[in-house]
Amino acid sequence: MVWNVIEELSVRGCIQGFRLRLGEEVMSSHVFKNIFEEFTRGTIFENVDMDIEEVSPMFKCGCGYWRRGKGLKMDDMSCPRCKQELEMFKGNEFELLDVY
Ligand SMILES: [Zn+2]
Repeated sequence: MVWNVIEELSVRGCIQGFRLRLGEEVMSSHVFKNIFEEFTRGTIFENVDMDIEEVSPMFKCGCGYWRRGKGLKMDDMSCPRCKQELEMFKGNEFELLDVY
């Protein structure tokens, strides 16, 4: 996934930086930065600015219940109201928003 971003940047050529929307369920911005730096060491992308917008995981249920999912365990994945399985509707983002 990190490689996809680098490919995208390569198409643009010489850039100053980029903005990325990153769901915490995908990886933390810290991990992303580490991998990105690893991949781009010695390339023209070595020192680009990274603006990473982190998205916290959120879970919802058909009955209207929703909760933040940070630190949610797998056995917490059912709705406390109706016992249906909760569905993650935020936290899976991996989207290059802008390249400049
Ligand atoms: Zn429910």
